[in-house]
Amino acid sequence: MAKKKKLALHWQILIGMLAGVLFGILMLNIDLGKEEVILSKASTSVVKELFTTSTGEVVELSKEVVRPAIKSTKAKEFVSNWIAPFGTIFVRLLKLIAIPLIIASLIKGIGELKDIAKFSKIGGRTILIYISTTIIAITIGLGLVNLLKPGNSIPKETITKMTEAYAKNEGVTKKIKTAQAQTQSRPLDFLVDMVPDNIIKATSNNTNMLQVIFFIIFFGICILLIKPEDAKPVYDFFTGLNEIILKMVDIIMLTAPFAVFALLANVIVSANDPQLLLGLLQYAGTVVLGLGIMVLLYATAIKLYTGRSFASFFKGISPAQLLAFSTSSSAATLPVTMERVEEHLGVEKEVSSFVLPVGATINMDGTSLYQAVAAVFICQALDFPLSFQLQLTIVLTALLASIGSAAVPGAGMVMLVMVLQSIGLPEEYFAIGLAMIFAIDRPLDMCRTVINVTGDATVAMLVGKSVGKLSDLAIKDWDDNYGK
Ligand code: ASP
Repeated sequence: MAKKKKLALHWQILIGMLAGVLFGILMLNIDLGKEEVILSKASTSVVKELFTTSTGEVVELSKEVVRPAIKSTKAKEFVSNWIAPFGTIFVRLLKLIAIPLIIASLIKGIGELKDIAKFSKIGGRTILIYISTTIIAITIGLGLVNLLKPGNSIPKETITKMTEAYAKNEGVTKKIKTAQAQTQSRPLDFLVDMVPDNIIKATSNNTNMLQVIFFIIFFGICILLIKPEDAKPVYDFFTGLNEIILKMVDIIMLTAPFAVFALLANVIVSANDPQLLLGLLQYAGTVVLGLGIMVLLYATAIKLYTGRSFASFFKGISPAQLLAFSTSSSAATLPVTMERVEEHLGVEKEVSSFVLPVGATINMDGTSLYQAVAAVFICQALDFPLSFQLQLTIVLTALLASIGSAAVPGAGMVMLVMVLQSIGLPEEYFAIGLAMIFAIDRPLDMCRTVINVTGDATVAMLVGKSVGKLSDLAIKDWDDNYGK
């Protein structure tokens, strides 16, 4: 009997996302009970309408139109109690396998290299391309924000409203505190931080990915240096472990369409006041335009250097992009990115197992572009002059800030404080600055995470091609071995 053709995974995820958005909107608009709590007050506006009287006279009458209040914490409560946990479970499952997957796949990758010199070539090229793409992203962001000047047209009342709404908000104050704690470190602390003093401790925290990578590279190189017969059992163990974890990814991904439904429904019911979002449309448009340009650049670089078409690239990577959008976390998306890049884009493990985990931690083109736009936007809105020299400072600090941003939701905004500090914006403006962009941060975070993940996949393909490790596609289905 012919096997029924299944809908491609990216379509399934897209349908789940759409359904989640619609469900969220529906929940915000249905009456969920008597003790409904009003989130924003109702407002009235006057509209004029023409009426014909019984004598045939046409008169203009003013009519008051009442815009209903935004309902309701009840909806939010329902979604966060009964729907959102399924999204959270999914994200936790992906994070759960991230560290074991990096370990197994990197050991297998280095083992397959059989040649340490090649590894340093891959490492050098990866870091170089990562830094270059990030600088390009920041430059595009700076170019657009200087050209479109979204901050100049923002009315002073909007700034006041945003400040009143968010300057004392816990989200904003916490971000500033975290950033200030981080910027108090010494220049070489990032190197010190990369070296773990306890591997169990390092693997117990997902934000220590670079420490884990450091240990595994050291370990992997030593596997190559000992007698092959001694190395074999260890290598075989990690090869098996790698297969098992990839199977776990397959199984987790079977639930992706439902999980994105839950994640997006929750994003919609937790969204900020739409009126405030409207004031930030020009700013958001500038960021999104910049991110769009980055996507075109990635696809063009791939086409020119590897000969792969736009369509094949996006078809291969789209499920990871959709998950990045839904979870706002490149770290949570990493297992899926790895599987897609290896199986659907044909990058061999020797390259992908190093390039992708490192990229998830240090390469954030979307975040750096956003930081450049946001910093200049805040200065424009607050009439803080920015010389050319200060704009160059933004290039450097946004590069460092994006390297230092954790691959989790909202991290880019924390490190934005570092950029604002570097250009000399007075500290008392930090809260106002962040408050201005806070309302729209989540949707922009979703978009920039897509670019962060796409950038990593692009670099994996470019480095793979440059060292002869980009093979024909080894396309499997997500559930290819499911039921074996
Ligand atoms: N959420 C982003 C990521 O995980 C980081 C950020 O820009 O906030 O890649």
